[in-house]
Amino acid sequence: MSPYSPLASSLAPQERILVIYTGGTIGMQQHANGLAPGGDFAARMAAAFTQLPLTHQQALPAYDVVSYATLIDSSAATPLTWQQIARDVSRQLSSYTGFVIVHGTDTLSWTAASLAYQLQGLDRPVIVTGAMQPLETPDGDALDNLHGALQFAAKPALQEVAVYFAGQLFRGARATKQHSEAIDAFASPNYPLLGERVGNDFVYYPSRGLGVQQRGAPRFELPDYRLVNQGEVVRIILWPGITAWQLEAWLGDSRVKGALLQLWGAGNLPADPSLLNVLASASGEGKLLAAISQCPQGSVHLGAYAAGHGLSDAGVLEGDAMTPEAAFTKLVHLLAQPLSLEDQRQRFLTPLVGER
Ligand code: ASP
Repeated sequence: MSPYSPLASSLAPQERILVIYTGGTIGMQQHANGLAPGGDFAARMAAAFTQLPLTHQQALPAYDVVSYATLIDSSAATPLTWQQIARDVSRQLSSYTGFVIVHGTDTLSWTAASLAYQLQGLDRPVIVTGAMQPLETPDGDALDNLHGALQFAAKPALQEVAVYFAGQLFRGARATKQHSEAIDAFASPNYPLLGERVGNDFVYYPSRGLGVQQRGAPRFELPDYRLVNQGEVVRIILWPGITAWQLEAWLGDSRVKGALLQLWGAGNLPADPSLLNVLASASGEGKLLAAISQCPQGSVHLGAYAAGHGLSDAGVLEGDAMTPEAAFTKLVHLLAQPLSLEDQRQRFLTPLVGER
Protein backbone atom coordinates (compact mmCIF):
# COMPACT_ATOMS: atom_id res chain seq x y z
CA MET A 1 0.00 0.00 0.00
CA SER A 2 1.30 3.49 -0.70
CA PRO A 3 -0.84 5.88 1.27
CA TYR A 4 -1.80 9.28 -0.11
CA SER A 5 -1.25 11.85 2.65
CA PRO A 6 -3.37 14.96 2.18
CA LEU A 7 -2.46 16.30 5.57
CA ALA A 8 1.23 15.44 5.49
CA SER A 9 2.54 17.00 8.64
CA SER A 10 5.04 16.51 11.41
CA LEU A 11 2.73 14.00 13.10
CA ALA A 12 4.19 10.56 13.62
CA PRO A 13 2.39 7.85 11.61
CA GLN A 14 1.14 6.41 14.90
CA GLU A 15 -1.03 9.50 15.32
CA ARG A 16 -2.77 9.09 12.00
CA ILE A 17 -5.90 7.36 10.72
CA LEU A 18 -5.77 4.98 7.78
CA VAL A 19 -8.74 5.22 5.41
CA ILE A 20 -9.21 2.07 3.29
CA TYR A 21 -11.47 2.63 0.27
CA THR A 22 -13.07 -0.55 -1.05
CA GLY A 23 -15.81 0.85 -3.34
CA GLY A 24 -19.56 1.43 -2.93
CA THR A 25 -21.93 4.21 -3.91
CA ILE A 26 -19.98 6.72 -1.84
CA GLY A 27 -17.20 6.71 -4.42
CA MET A 28 -19.29 5.99 -7.49
CA GLN A 29 -19.33 8.12 -10.60
CA GLN A 30 -21.55 8.13 -13.65
CA HIS A 31 -20.26 5.80 -16.38
CA ALA A 32 -21.86 4.83 -19.69
CA ASN A 33 -23.77 1.93 -18.06
CA GLY A 34 -24.75 3.78 -14.91
CA LEU A 35 -23.04 4.31 -11.56
CA ALA A 36 -19.80 2.38 -10.98
CA PRO A 37 -17.02 2.74 -8.41
CA GLY A 38 -14.70 5.62 -9.32
CA GLY A 39 -11.03 6.10 -8.55
CA ASP A 40 -8.96 9.00 -7.21
CA PHE A 41 -10.82 8.75 -3.90
CA ALA A 42 -8.17 10.47 -1.80
CA ALA A 43 -8.25 13.66 -3.84
CA ARG A 44 -12.05 13.57 -4.07
CA MET A 45 -12.35 13.12 -0.31
CA ALA A 46 -9.93 15.98 0.34
CA ALA A 47 -11.91 18.17 -2.07
CA ALA A 48 -15.17 17.28 -0.31
CA PHE A 49 -13.69 18.24 3.07
CA THR A 50 -13.09 21.79 1.81
CA GLN A 51 -16.89 22.18 2.01
CA LEU A 52 -16.77 21.77 5.79
CA PRO A 53 -16.71 24.90 7.94
CA LEU A 54 -13.09 25.95 8.56
CA THR A 55 -13.18 25.00 12.23
CA HIS A 56 -14.26 21.45 11.28
CA GLN A 57 -11.55 21.23 8.65
CA GLN A 58 -8.97 22.27 11.21
CA ALA A 59 -10.26 19.69 13.68
CA LEU A 60 -9.96 16.79 11.22
CA PRO A 61 -7.49 14.16 12.34
CA ALA A 62 -4.53 13.50 10.06
CA TYR A 63 -5.15 10.62 7.73
CA ASP A 64 -3.77 8.59 4.85
CA VAL A 65 -5.90 6.95 2.17
CA VAL A 66 -5.36 3.66 0.40
CA SER A 67 -7.63 2.41 -2.36
CA TYR A 68 -8.10 -1.20 -3.31
CA ALA A 69 -6.91 -2.03 -6.80
CA THR A 70 -10.27 -3.60 -7.57
CA LEU A 71 -13.08 -1.38 -6.32
CA ILE A 72 -16.37 -3.17 -5.85
CA ASP A 73 -20.06 -2.62 -5.49
CA SER A 74 -20.41 -4.33 -2.11
CA SER A 75 -22.89 -6.83 -3.57
CA ALA A 76 -19.74 -8.52 -4.90
CA ALA A 77 -18.18 -8.93 -1.43
CA THR A 78 -17.42 -12.46 -0.21
CA PRO A 79 -15.74 -13.89 2.88
CA LEU A 80 -12.46 -13.26 1.05
CA THR A 81 -13.25 -9.54 0.98
CA TRP A 82 -13.82 -9.63 4.74
CA GLN A 83 -10.55 -11.47 5.17
CA GLN A 84 -8.58 -9.03 3.02
CA ILE A 85 -9.81 -6.00 4.98
CA ALA A 86 -9.08 -7.66 8.33
CA ARG A 87 -5.58 -8.62 7.23
CA ASP A 88 -4.87 -5.13 5.92
CA VAL A 89 -5.94 -3.60 9.24
CA SER A 90 -3.84 -6.16 11.08
CA ARG A 91 -0.77 -5.45 8.95
CA GLN A 92 -1.07 -1.69 9.48
CA LEU A 93 -2.12 -1.84 13.12
CA SER A 94 1.05 -0.50 14.68
CA SER A 95 1.26 2.37 12.18
CA TYR A 96 -2.16 3.91 12.77
CA THR A 97 -4.24 4.85 15.79
CA GLY A 98 -7.51 4.23 14.01
CA PHE A 99 -9.01 2.99 10.76
CA VAL A 100 -11.90 3.98 8.51
CA ILE A 101 -13.19 1.39 6.07
CA VAL A 102 -15.11 2.98 3.19
CA HIS A 103 -17.56 0.40 1.89
CA GLY A 104 -20.77 0.00 -0.11
CA THR A 105 -23.83 0.02 2.09
CA ASP A 106 -25.54 -3.11 0.74
CA THR A 107 -23.29 -5.55 2.59
CA LEU A 108 -21.55 -3.11 4.90
CA SER A 109 -23.02 -4.67 8.04
CA TRP A 110 -21.84 -8.14 6.97
CA THR A 111 -18.29 -6.88 6.59
CA ALA A 112 -18.46 -5.00 9.89
CA ALA A 113 -19.64 -8.12 11.77
CA SER A 114 -16.99 -10.29 10.17
CA LEU A 115 -14.24 -7.78 10.98
CA ALA A 116 -15.34 -7.78 14.62
CA TYR A 117 -14.73 -11.56 14.90
CA GLN A 118 -11.43 -11.41 13.07
CA LEU A 119 -10.13 -8.41 15.01
CA GLN A 120 -10.98 -9.59 18.52
CA GLY A 121 -9.44 -7.66 21.37
CA LEU A 122 -8.96 -4.63 19.12
CA ASP A 123 -7.35 -1.79 21.06
CA ARG A 124 -8.30 1.06 18.73
CA PRO A 125 -11.25 2.11 16.55
CA VAL A 126 -12.09 0.55 13.20
CA ILE A 127 -15.01 2.51 11.75
CA VAL A 128 -16.90 1.21 8.73
CA THR A 129 -18.84 3.76 6.72
CA GLY A 130 -20.31 4.42 3.30
CA ALA A 131 -23.08 6.58 1.89
CA MET A 132 -26.38 6.33 0.11
CA GLN A 133 -25.27 8.98 -2.38
CA PRO A 134 -21.98 9.54 -4.21
CA LEU A 135 -19.43 11.94 -2.76
CA GLU A 136 -20.10 14.60 -5.38
CA THR A 137 -23.89 14.72 -4.84
CA PRO A 138 -24.76 18.26 -3.65
CA ASP A 139 -25.88 18.09 0.00
CA GLY A 140 -25.45 14.31 -0.08
CA ASP A 141 -24.67 12.13 2.93
CA ALA A 142 -21.10 11.10 2.03
CA LEU A 143 -19.32 14.12 3.46
CA ASP A 144 -20.98 13.87 6.88
CA ASN A 145 -20.40 10.14 7.06
CA LEU A 146 -16.70 10.42 6.22
CA HIS A 147 -16.30 13.33 8.60
CA GLY A 148 -17.96 11.49 11.48
CA ALA A 149 -16.14 8.25 10.76
CA LEU A 150 -12.79 10.06 10.92
CA GLN A 151 -13.74 11.80 14.15
CA PHE A 152 -14.73 8.54 15.82
CA ALA A 153 -11.65 6.80 14.43
CA ALA A 154 -9.58 9.36 16.32
CA LYS A 155 -11.02 8.38 19.74
CA PRO A 156 -8.63 6.03 21.53
CA ALA A 157 -11.26 4.98 24.09
CA LEU A 158 -13.28 3.40 21.28
CA GLN A 159 -11.78 -0.07 20.92
CA GLU A 160 -13.91 -2.09 18.55
CA VAL A 161 -15.34 -2.33 15.06
CA ALA A 162 -18.18 0.16 14.69
CA VAL A 163 -20.38 1.49 11.90
CA TYR A 164 -20.83 5.24 11.54
CA PHE A 165 -23.80 6.34 9.48
CA ALA A 166 -26.09 9.38 9.45
CA GLY A 167 -24.89 10.74 12.76
CA GLN A 168 -25.06 7.42 14.60
CA LEU A 169 -22.37 5.02 15.75
CA PHE A 170 -23.38 1.35 15.98
CA ARG A 171 -21.51 -1.70 17.21
CA GLY A 172 -20.30 -3.44 14.04
CA ALA A 173 -21.64 -6.83 15.11
CA ARG A 174 -25.05 -5.31 15.94
CA ALA A 175 -25.70 -3.16 12.88
CA THR A 176 -28.03 -3.95 10.00
CA LYS A 177 -29.14 -2.09 6.89
CA GLN A 178 -32.82 -1.42 7.40
CA HIS A 179 -33.74 1.00 4.63
CA SER A 180 -32.95 0.84 0.93
CA GLU A 181 -33.29 4.57 0.27
CA ALA A 182 -33.31 6.67 3.44
CA ILE A 183 -30.16 8.45 4.52
CA ASP A 184 -30.38 6.85 7.97
CA ALA A 185 -30.21 3.41 6.40
CA PHE A 186 -28.68 1.56 9.38
CA ALA A 187 -29.99 0.49 12.74
CA SER A 188 -28.91 -1.57 15.70
CA PRO A 189 -32.20 -3.20 16.67
CA ASN A 190 -31.06 -4.94 19.85
CA TYR A 191 -28.23 -2.79 21.21
CA PRO A 192 -28.04 0.93 21.99
CA LEU A 193 -25.92 3.38 20.01
CA LEU A 194 -22.22 3.40 20.85
CA GLY A 195 -22.11 7.09 20.07
CA GLU A 196 -23.68 9.85 18.04
CA ARG A 197 -23.21 13.26 16.59
CA VAL A 198 -24.66 15.89 18.90
CA GLY A 199 -24.44 19.30 17.21
CA ASN A 200 -20.80 19.69 16.31
CA ASP A 201 -19.61 17.04 18.75
CA PHE A 202 -19.03 13.36 18.16
CA VAL A 203 -19.93 11.74 21.45
CA TYR A 204 -18.84 8.23 22.39
CA TYR A 205 -20.60 6.39 25.23
CA PRO A 206 -17.78 4.32 26.74
CA SER A 207 -19.98 2.36 29.13
CA ARG A 208 -21.62 0.70 26.08
CA GLY A 209 -18.36 -0.11 24.34
CA LEU A 210 -15.98 -3.05 24.44
CA GLY A 211 -13.08 -0.78 25.41
CA VAL A 212 -13.93 -1.03 29.10
CA GLN A 213 -13.55 -4.84 28.91
CA GLN A 214 -10.33 -4.99 26.90
CA ARG A 215 -7.39 -6.57 28.59
CA GLY A 216 -3.96 -7.33 27.20
CA ALA A 217 -2.88 -7.32 23.59
CA PRO A 218 -5.23 -7.78 20.63
CA ARG A 219 -5.98 -11.46 19.97
CA PHE A 220 -6.85 -11.38 16.31
CA GLU A 221 -8.16 -14.53 14.73
CA LEU A 222 -7.31 -14.50 11.04
CA PRO A 223 -8.13 -17.98 9.78
CA ASP A 224 -8.06 -18.86 6.10
CA TYR A 225 -11.47 -17.89 4.76
CA ARG A 226 -10.79 -19.73 1.50
CA LEU A 227 -12.05 -22.74 3.48
CA VAL A 228 -15.49 -21.15 3.76
CA ASN A 229 -15.77 -19.34 0.46
CA GLN A 230 -17.48 -22.01 -1.64
CA GLY A 231 -20.97 -21.97 -0.13
CA GLU A 232 -20.12 -23.94 3.03
CA VAL A 233 -22.53 -21.84 5.09
CA VAL A 234 -26.15 -21.27 4.02
CA ARG A 235 -28.96 -19.08 5.28
CA ILE A 236 -32.49 -20.42 5.30
CA ILE A 237 -35.38 -18.09 6.07
CA LEU A 238 -38.54 -20.13 6.73
CA TRP A 239 -41.70 -19.50 4.75
CA PRO A 240 -45.21 -20.91 5.22
CA GLY A 241 -45.35 -24.23 3.41
CA ILE A 242 -41.61 -25.07 3.59
CA THR A 243 -41.13 -28.81 3.17
CA ALA A 244 -38.57 -31.31 4.42
CA TRP A 245 -37.30 -32.05 0.90
CA GLN A 246 -36.48 -28.39 0.43
CA LEU A 247 -34.59 -28.23 3.72
CA GLU A 248 -32.86 -31.48 2.82
CA ALA A 249 -31.78 -30.04 -0.53
CA TRP A 250 -29.71 -27.46 1.36
CA LEU A 251 -28.60 -29.33 4.44
CA GLY A 252 -28.09 -32.76 2.89
CA ASP A 253 -25.44 -31.44 0.51
CA SER A 254 -22.04 -32.61 1.70
CA ARG A 255 -20.49 -29.24 0.78
CA VAL A 256 -22.64 -27.50 3.41
CA LYS A 257 -20.94 -27.32 6.83
CA GLY A 258 -23.19 -24.90 8.63
CA ALA A 259 -26.54 -23.16 8.39
CA LEU A 260 -28.29 -20.17 9.83
CA LEU A 261 -32.03 -20.72 10.20
CA GLN A 262 -34.34 -17.75 10.55
CA LEU A 263 -37.39 -18.97 12.40
CA TRP A 264 -40.65 -17.24 13.11
CA GLY A 265 -41.15 -15.01 16.12
CA ALA A 266 -39.50 -16.24 19.29
CA GLY A 267 -38.28 -19.44 17.62
CA ASN A 268 -41.15 -21.19 15.97
CA LEU A 269 -41.32 -23.48 12.94
CA PRO A 270 -44.06 -25.67 11.38
CA ALA A 271 -45.09 -28.65 13.54
CA ASP A 272 -43.80 -31.10 10.93
CA PRO A 273 -41.56 -33.81 12.43
CA SER A 274 -39.88 -34.40 9.09
CA LEU A 275 -38.40 -30.89 9.24
CA LEU A 276 -36.86 -31.65 12.64
CA ASN A 277 -35.59 -34.97 11.29
CA VAL A 278 -33.67 -33.19 8.54
CA LEU A 279 -32.17 -30.82 11.09
CA ALA A 280 -31.28 -33.65 13.48
CA SER A 281 -29.55 -35.66 10.80
CA ALA A 282 -27.61 -32.61 9.59
CA SER A 283 -26.33 -31.92 13.10
CA GLY A 284 -25.69 -35.64 13.53
CA GLU A 285 -23.37 -35.36 10.52
CA GLY A 286 -21.42 -32.64 12.35
CA LYS A 287 -22.96 -29.57 10.71
CA LEU A 288 -23.13 -26.39 12.75
CA LEU A 289 -26.76 -25.22 12.88
CA ALA A 290 -27.97 -22.06 14.55
CA ALA A 291 -31.27 -20.23 14.72
CA ILE A 292 -32.33 -16.63 15.08
CA SER A 293 -35.66 -14.93 14.49
CA GLN A 294 -36.98 -13.42 11.29
CA CYS A 295 -38.12 -10.48 13.44
CA PRO A 296 -35.50 -7.73 13.48
CA GLN A 297 -36.10 -7.11 17.18
CA GLY A 298 -36.08 -9.51 20.10
CA SER A 299 -34.49 -12.91 20.76
CA VAL A 300 -35.28 -16.55 20.05
CA HIS A 301 -36.18 -18.97 22.85
CA LEU A 302 -36.24 -22.38 21.28
CA GLY A 303 -38.47 -23.97 23.89
CA ALA A 304 -41.17 -21.29 23.87
CA TYR A 305 -43.58 -23.07 21.48
CA ALA A 306 -44.37 -26.76 21.29
CA ALA A 307 -43.53 -26.75 17.58
CA GLY A 308 -40.09 -25.28 18.22
CA HIS A 309 -39.37 -27.47 21.21
CA GLY A 310 -37.55 -30.17 19.27
CA LEU A 311 -35.01 -27.74 17.84
CA SER A 312 -32.56 -27.99 20.74
CA ASP A 313 -32.83 -31.78 20.66
CA ALA A 314 -32.07 -31.60 16.94
CA GLY A 315 -28.83 -29.81 17.85
CA VAL A 316 -29.85 -26.32 16.72
CA LEU A 317 -28.07 -23.56 18.65
CA GLU A 318 -29.96 -20.59 19.99
CA GLY A 319 -28.75 -17.37 18.35
CA ASP A 320 -30.28 -15.08 20.97
CA ALA A 321 -30.91 -11.58 19.51
CA MET A 322 -28.11 -11.65 16.98
CA THR A 323 -28.54 -9.96 13.63
CA PRO A 324 -28.48 -12.29 10.60
CA GLU A 325 -25.16 -10.67 9.68
CA ALA A 326 -23.60 -11.37 13.09
CA ALA A 327 -24.92 -14.94 13.29
CA PHE A 328 -23.93 -15.87 9.73
CA THR A 329 -20.44 -14.36 9.84
CA LYS A 330 -19.88 -16.04 13.21
CA LEU A 331 -20.66 -19.43 11.67
CA VAL A 332 -18.27 -18.61 8.82
CA HIS A 333 -15.58 -17.54 11.28
CA LEU A 334 -15.91 -20.64 13.46
CA LEU A 335 -16.04 -23.03 10.52
CA ALA A 336 -12.87 -21.53 9.05
CA GLN A 337 -10.95 -22.69 12.13
CA PRO A 338 -9.67 -26.13 13.05
CA LEU A 339 -11.99 -26.43 16.06
CA SER A 340 -13.87 -29.50 17.23
CA LEU A 341 -17.63 -29.36 16.71
CA GLU A 342 -18.05 -29.06 20.48
CA ASP A 343 -15.73 -26.02 20.58
CA GLN A 344 -17.50 -24.45 17.62
CA ARG A 345 -20.85 -24.94 19.33
CA GLN A 346 -19.61 -23.59 22.62
CA ARG A 347 -18.00 -20.53 21.02
CA PHE A 348 -21.14 -19.83 19.03
CA LEU A 349 -23.07 -19.61 22.29
CA THR A 350 -20.45 -17.37 23.93
CA PRO A 351 -20.44 -13.63 23.28
CA LEU A 352 -17.10 -12.97 21.55
CA VAL A 353 -17.40 -9.27 20.64
CA GLY A 354 -20.67 -8.14 22.20
CA GLU A 355 -22.67 -9.60 19.33
CA ARG A 356 -25.07 -11.37 21.70
N1 ASP B 1 -24.73 -1.03 -4.32
C1 ASP B 1 -23.98 -0.15 -3.45
C2 ASP B 1 -22.97 -0.99 -2.70
O1 ASP B 1 -23.31 -1.64 -1.75
C3 ASP B 1 -24.90 0.54 -2.52
C4 ASP B 1 -24.28 1.58 -1.63
O2 ASP B 1 -23.09 1.67 -1.46
O3 ASP B 1 -25.06 2.35 -1.03
O4 ASP B 1 -21.83 -1.01 -3.06
